[in-house]
Parts: sequence; C-alpha cells; structure tokens
Amino acid sequence: MLNGAASSTIGIANLPNQTHKIVSRKGATFTLMVVGESGTGKTTYINTLLTTTIKAYRDPAKRREMLARKTVSIDVIRVEFEEKGFRTQLNVVDTPGFGDYVNNRDAWQPIIDFIDGQHESYLRQEMQPERSDILDGRVHACLYFIYPSGGTLRALDIETMKRLGSRVNLIPVVAKADTLTPKDLAQFKRRVRDAIAHYEINVYTPPVESDTEGVAERNVALIDAMPYAVIGSEDDVQTPDGRVVRGRQYLWGVSEVENDEHCDFRKLRNLLIRSHMLDLVTTTEERHYEHFRSTHLDANGRIVSTVTRKDAKFKEEEDNLRRRFAEQVKAKEAMFRQWEQKLIAERDKLNKDLEHEHSYITTLTQEIKALEERLAGKK
Ligand code: GDP
Repeated sequence: MLNGAASSTIGIANLPNQTHKIVSRKGATFTLMVVGESGTGKTTYINTLLTTTIKAYRDPAKRREMLARKTVSIDVIRVEFEEKGFRTQLNVVDTPGFGDYVNNRDAWQPIIDFIDGQHESYLRQEMQPERSDILDGRVHACLYFIYPSGGTLRALDIETMKRLGSRVNLIPVVAKADTLTPKDLAQFKRRVRDAIAHYEINVYTPPVESDTEGVAERNVALIDAMPYAVIGSEDDVQTPDGRVVRGRQYLWGVSEVENDEHCDFRKLRNLLIRSHMLDLVTTTEERHYEHFRSTHLDANGRIVSTVTRKDAKFKEEEDNLRRRFAEQVKAKEAMFRQWEQKLIAERDKLNKDLEHEHSYITTLTQEIKALEERLAGKK
C-alpha cells in the first residue's frame, strides 16, 4: 500500500461543494481500473494522471515470469490524497498479463471475476446488521486501452469490452495517440466508435443536461471525443517555442500531453476526477451494483454467489472433461488391444519362422556331419 505524496494535486479539492460532501459521505473512495494489453502505456498513463510516480514499473524479469505462468493478475494500488484538508482514497486496479498470450481465450475472466467479486463483497457487507464500516472496492470506472493499430477493434477487445460494459462504467481509450498522425487518429477513433455501436458495447456516456451555463456543451464535446486518445509521459520537455511541458520529444517536435490539439488527456482527466467523478460513483451504485444485486439474490433473499455458479459451471465442465477423457482412454485401450493382438500374431509367426529355420539348420548340421563321416570313411 502506497500513500501518495500529499503535495500532488489531482483536483479532488476542486470538486463542487455538493460533490465534495457526497463523495465524502460515501467514504471518499474512488476506484479506477485499467485494462489493456501489456505495453499499451497503462502504467505511464496512471503516473501521468497523478502527476507523480506512484507505480513502479513492472520489471522485465517479472514480466517474463508472468508470461511463463500465463496468467492475468490483478494489482491494486492505494493512494491517499489530501487537499485542503479533504482526504480521498484513490484505488488504481491494474491487470498486467491481459492479452499477452497466443491463446487469449477467457483472458477477461480474472478481470470480470474481480469486478463481480467486489460487488458481491459489498452486497454481503450490506446484508450484515452492522454496516457502519463497509469496505467498498467496487470499480467506478474502467479504462480500456486500445492499441493504436490504425485498423479497428480486435476480437479480444470486442469480447472483453462487451463483458466489461455490462458490469462497470467502461471508458475506451486510444493508447499512445502520438504514434498516429492526426488524420489517422481521427479515422481510427471513428472506426472504434462504429465498432462499439455495431457490437452494441455498453460504454459510459456522461449525462448531457446541466443547469450551469456551458456545461451541457462541454458534456456533448466529451461524448463526441470518445474513445479518448491519450499520450502518457513522465518527462517535462521543451517545445520549439520554448515552453516546458509534459510530453514526448521527437526529432520533429513535441507531443504534448495536456494539449487538446494533440490528444484528449485533459478531457479524460476532467471527466474522471473533476466533472463526472460523482456521476461515475452514482451510476456504479444505481446501475451496475443494482443490476448485480437483482441478479444475484434468490427468491429468499440469499446471495447466489458467483463462486457457487462457477462451481456449477466448473462441475459441468469437469464432468464433460471426465467423460471425454474416459472415451479417449477407451478408444486408446481398444487400439492398444488391437496392437497387442497384432504383436502376438507377429511373435507367433516369428517363432514359427525361427523354429523352421532352427530345424533347417539342424538338418543342415546333420547333413554336414554325415558328409564329414563319409569323407572320413573314404580316407
Ligand atoms: P503498460 O505495460 O501498459 O503498463 O505500459 P507502460 O506504461 O509500461 O509503457 C510501455 C512503453 O510504452 C514504455 O516504453 C513507455 O515509455 C511507452 N509509452 C507509454 N505511453 C506512451 C505514449 O503515450 N506514447 C508513446 N509513444 N509511448 C508511450
């Protein structure tokens, strides 16, 4: 567990007063999950977002070890911020290992299990008589990092995003936006949006209406920007016009993290930790958690655990596997029996041949002996 530097400003204290109070009453915990292939820049993005390095880079040896284990793991980092006397706990959930393997079938399962597990844990605590100290690990927003291929969504992206979108506030992100030209980036974003609509992937859409002047327009702009293109960097670099900015330096110039012309980093940061943090918390509560609750309580109000369901599913799979294994063993046994019979027949034939050869040799030996005796007699 890490307690982030109190000096880091992520803007929690800038939340409107009302938001302040409600977030505070809810325990001032915000949980952000990042999902995406290794190397898409999740760690860099989180560090850039928090403007301070809170997360150690996964060292290559550990990454190799993970590859050998072929697992997706879940890392939770807790950072406590204090701004103007207001404390907020930010949980960042990383999912290293996702999408790293040749066969990524069910790669999303540990991530889905984690999200469902947090809902279940909250539900169990809520059903206890003593509920003052509920630990809330529910994921309020899930950033899905899409590799900037320039093509469109891959099958793994579609399958995973579909499952995430039905459980959590899913926010698609185009990683490493600086690797595409502005034209290619705009086209890629359009293709991703089309794929999201075509495959009916449920993504988080900020509410548009607002009484405050200019906010509705800003919200429309936020919706239009999805999927959010981001550039991550932990270095301050100098632009050709002499400004020092957070960005990535190239021979041709600088890709600026906080420049709206270059990427949507600022828009996404505002959405997450300023304008829509409260909405992300309430939609998690009212939509996703409620859906979980209504589908995981039986007629008697008892929790139908995902673990129990998994057991039933696993049992069915196990029975199928056992049946398939028994059939294969039977088939192999029959084959071995045939081979055995063939070998016995072969052995019998060889034995007969051997006997035949043996008697032939005996005959020849006798003939030689007889000839030798005859020869000896003549002498
Ligand atoms: P993770 O495995 O998803 O956590 O990825 P990392 O954050 O470790 O980044 C992998 C590599 O991509 C590192 O070399 C980063 O410096 C680089 N990287 C991260 N963000 C960006 C970006 O926005 N643009 C470019 N060009 N490279 C990036």
